[in-house]
Amino acid sequence: MKKDIKSMTLVELENEMKLIGQPKFRAGQIFDWLQKRMVSSFDEMTNLSKDFRNRLENDYYIADCVIEEKFCSKLDETVKYLFRLNDGECIESVLMKYNHGWSICISSQVGCRMGCKFCASTIGGLKRNLTPSEMLSQIMTAQKDMNIRISNIVMMGIGEPFDNYDNVVRFLELVGCDKGINIGMRHISLSTCGRVDGIRKFMELDNQLTLSISLHAPNDKIRNSMMPINNKWNVSELISACRDYFKRTGRRISFEYAMIKGVNDSKECADELIKLLSGMICHVNLIPVNEVKENDYERSERVHEFCDYLNRHGMNATVRRTLGADISASCGQLRQKHGKIDTKL
Ligand code: SAH
Repeated sequence: MKKDIKSMTLVELENEMKLIGQPKFRAGQIFDWLQKRMVSSFDEMTNLSKDFRNRLENDYYIADCVIEEKFCSKLDETVKYLFRLNDGECIESVLMKYNHGWSICISSQVGCRMGCKFCASTIGGLKRNLTPSEMLSQIMTAQKDMNIRISNIVMMGIGEPFDNYDNVVRFLELVGCDKGINIGMRHISLSTCGRVDGIRKFMELDNQLTLSISLHAPNDKIRNSMMPINNKWNVSELISACRDYFKRTGRRISFEYAMIKGVNDSKECADELIKLLSGMICHVNLIPVNEVKENDYERSERVHEFCDYLNRHGMNATVRRTLGADISASCGQLRQKHGKIDTKL
């Protein structure tokens, strides 16, 4: 079995070099080729001897993702990618242009097993976790393709990041490394459907990224009907973990709330939400739900009204801007349509 060299931290690479009898500085050279210059073959590492490159080729592999399909929005500069991984599985990433620069929404798993009723990513279940190197590769391939520098990352693509906890934490370490892509944690958001175990474990790391919670409902009755995870950790356990998270990290949490007609868009829901989040320093992001053909959830027309109501009651709420509307830029549906691609690997 070849080892995944792009998922190794610099310290791990140094140990690896020691094991195979190479000087320590080789680790720095390889790390630089992989993480900064973003090469996808050992042959490109021209400051290493041919013999050594062959040896690396025999024992290690460089994870990559290649562009299978690419869609460019005509309405804004949003670009949606369907990426193919080394084993033929496909994932989606979306590149978005904001005033402050380019932001990429990346996937953390192939598929998802969380089962949220409104979400296309979970249809067909979880195929496998992504490795740290495959999360990095999404950023690298997009950056090279567009010849830009990406400054922000949102982990809001396919998958539940806290269902792939160790690989996600390692990815964060690699992407934040000043000898690599070097994106600071304050430029990263991570979204969870409410894996309270993950939230509690993650707060111990005192990481400065922005945590987003896919709340979508103000009480257990509605949340149970939409999100199976709520049967394991209910709304009160989730909010209590969020309050502790803020206490521990000092970082304001962002709550995602997809507005669905007749399900979670009433005045009563708004009142319950205000009560639920009272006294918490947080932000509520209202999202007009994307209609998915596999379910009957419809978009609420009350999004702005709901938002104004929350604001009038002292809550910090905004309606999420829709980008890439013409290329269905929200994740999940493209992969679903496409299936696995046969490769020779
Ligand atoms: N599993 C994580 C990360 C995915 S983020 C999580 O659940 O947070 C993707 C975001 O889009 C989540 O907030 C998810 O709830 C939301 N989402 C999924 N399907 C949607 C849809 N049809 N319309 C609007 N938002 C949706």
